[in-house]
Amino acid sequence: MIDLKFSDDKRIFSLHNKGIPYLSVDLLDRLGVPNLYTTRYISFDEERGEGVKGLRLAVMKTEDPEEAGPLVKANRDILARQLGSSIEFECITDQKHTNHVHVASAEDLGPWIASNKPLHRQFVDGVVTDIPGVLLTAFGGDCPPVYLADPVRKAIGLVHAGWRGTFGRIPEVAIAHMVVKFGCEPENIYAAVGPGICRDCYEMGDEVYEQFASEWGQSDADRIFSRYPAFQIDGTEIKGGKYHLDLREANRLTLLRAGIPEDHIAISNICTKCNADTFYSYRARRMENEQVAMLVNRFGGGL
Ligand SMILES: [Zn+2]
Repeated sequence: MIDLKFSDDKRIFSLHNKGIPYLSVDLLDRLGVPNLYTTRYISFDEERGEGVKGLRLAVMKTEDPEEAGPLVKANRDILARQLGSSIEFECITDQKHTNHVHVASAEDLGPWIASNKPLHRQFVDGVVTDIPGVLLTAFGGDCPPVYLADPVRKAIGLVHAGWRGTFGRIPEVAIAHMVVKFGCEPENIYAAVGPGICRDCYEMGDEVYEQFASEWGQSDADRIFSRYPAFQIDGTEIKGGKYHLDLREANRLTLLRAGIPEDHIAISNICTKCNADTFYSYRARRMENEQVAMLVNRFGGGL
């Protein structure tokens, strides 16, 4: 099996080893919504019981898009097909750590890479859609994706929630778009915060804490940040260690604030940095590559 460390013993995800391996969110599987989150593995050898690493899904800033583009698009198409879709129906964004959410239209779809996306998707970190069959893809190497699905209005959303998007409450912005554009009611929406960096691994500057405290209020800031003590070599504690941010709890609070029922929310217990052998983690090893989260707008259709 692919070796994974979980923060607790709750079961949130299922591991799929066929084709390109991936995790799926059990809550979304129960709705029949095809979804995934990838790893470093490009395949898994059942007989040997080990995976083959090196999956490439994103063109990194240091790479030539002309050279790296075809392979990453081909890999994403394999994943899309594993979910019963295709890269022809994919909608990606340029992910600039904003809280901007786009409503997908037919001309957004297609096998884009970051450098050749249509202009109107610049500075966007989330997409919502009610078009049947549309595939939403978000990239991440520590920033968790937040998946949204409304089985009543048959609409979905997917956002990239690093600390800036989380600060700007991007899941709530996406939900507001689903309400206004598709007539969704928050109480019918299901949400999952996917794999991403955990509180222990996510050290932040004091100014980020101050920013949350002034916008979100002291009590929420104190709930989502911990100030970890620092130690000297002789083991004595130094006052005023670094702040650590819990993106999972922060996004859970935002989902609740947006009216999503508590029992409609699944929160990841997988950290990309604690599991840096299994996942690409920006904080662990910088710019190697990224995972993708994918979500297809189909309900109960099976695969
Ligand atoms: Zn961690």
